Amino acid sequence: MANHVFGRGSGALPTATRGEGCYIYDEAGRAYLDGSGGAAVSCLGHSDETVRAAIHAQLDQIAFAHTGFFTSEPAEALADKLIAHAPDGIDRVYLLSGGSEAVEAAIKLARQYALEIGQPGRHRIIARRQSYHGNTLGALAAGGNAWRREKYAPLLMETYHIDPCFEYHHRHDGESLEDYGQRAAQALEDEIQRLGPETVLAFIAEPVVGATAGAVPSAGDYFKHIREICDRHGVLLILDEVMCGMGRTGTFFACEQDGVAPDIVTIAKGLGAGYAPIGAMLSSARIFNAIAQGSGSFQHGHTYHGHPLAAAAGNAVVSRILDDGLLPQVRDRGDALEAALRQRFGQHPHVGDIRGRGLFRGIELVEDRDTKQSFDPSRKLNAKVKKAAMDEGLICYPAGGTVDGRVGDHVLLAPPFIISEDQIGELVDKLSNALDRAL
Ligand code: PLP
Repeated sequence: MANHVFGRGSGALPTATRGEGCYIYDEAGRAYLDGSGGAAVSCLGHSDETVRAAIHAQLDQIAFAHTGFFTSEPAEALADKLIAHAPDGIDRVYLLSGGSEAVEAAIKLARQYALEIGQPGRHRIIARRQSYHGNTLGALAAGGNAWRREKYAPLLMETYHIDPCFEYHHRHDGESLEDYGQRAAQALEDEIQRLGPETVLAFIAEPVVGATAGAVPSAGDYFKHIREICDRHGVLLILDEVMCGMGRTGTFFACEQDGVAPDIVTIAKGLGAGYAPIGAMLSSARIFNAIAQGSGSFQHGHTYHGHPLAAAAGNAVVSRILDDGLLPQVRDRGDALEAALRQRFGQHPHVGDIRGRGLFRGIELVEDRDTKQSFDPSRKLNAKVKKAAMDEGLICYPAGGTVDGRVGDHVLLAPPFIISEDQIGELVDKLSNALDRAL
């Protein structure tokens, strides 16, 4: 185990040996309630029979056939299902192995499209300060997470970051959500004008911000304004739903609740639900056709894209979410989780905000509720909360502290869609104990 180097503090980690429902068990038989699906991955829990059976069945047929030579039944079936439930105008699917790959592909597709339609001057990507789009160099460059970017700054393509739509921190006293949403979107208009509209390729954003901000949805008609601004300037809108998509917020795509359809959308995490590494980039036929009728094909590809086993897993996951009534369940249980969080932490002296949609919730930890003053990053609160939670037998996803110097620590919750009301109670109890110990 010591030779498997896989992350911060990995030396001290327990070994996961078994999963059942919403629980992970370690080598000592200790149970951990999975309150965050790791990082919003395990949307069906850890022992889903349908998904396991689908993977076994595909393995008995064929595990791998390179997409340079063959397509496969599960890949085609998954693409059809995703398109049938995708936002308006989205009708092509490109299957990959994860979220970062999906974002890389989205950026490259946008660039190739600009070339095919005779706009080679478009190369600039605008994103938001509170954002995470992945750890490969292109995705890392797009993201606004300062500490993740820092060491690699000289290797990153130039990108441009505007303020996010984050009403807890940025809405003025007395300003309506609508007015604030419009003002936040104006930052994109201003940045496009500053850079020169003919140079801007795409704007990328998470509809509900995950890892860097803790389940922050937009305010008012923010995304409708963003859509209008992008359209007016010929800028592509890329929505990154790697974390918030796949039903996590109560609709299959999170952007449905914002009333917008992107030009390109990325998904991953919940698509494989942890049973297989898979991601996808979806786009409009308009974009793919421009390429097909131009240079002929999207100049991209990875050995494992469209992997049949992963596609079989994704296919079964999508069926479970859409056909087994899990979307209404996410909305229901999401309301229950929000109510439980408000009841337990609504008056907590160090919980400044409780937010999110569906089973994608965040609480923000502050030194002072009135001033929203965050804790000093040197306290490394997120590591302390994570450790205290694990000691309590809870997996949650605390982060923050150093992002952008303005947003403090938060705890992200993204439990499996099958979580019961009792387990929601257990989650909140354990989180409360963990905060007592860590703060
Ligand atoms: N985009 C978003 C919004 C994410 O939250 C993440 C991962 O946390 C990624 C992209 C990168 O996905 P992956 O870790 O699968 O490469």
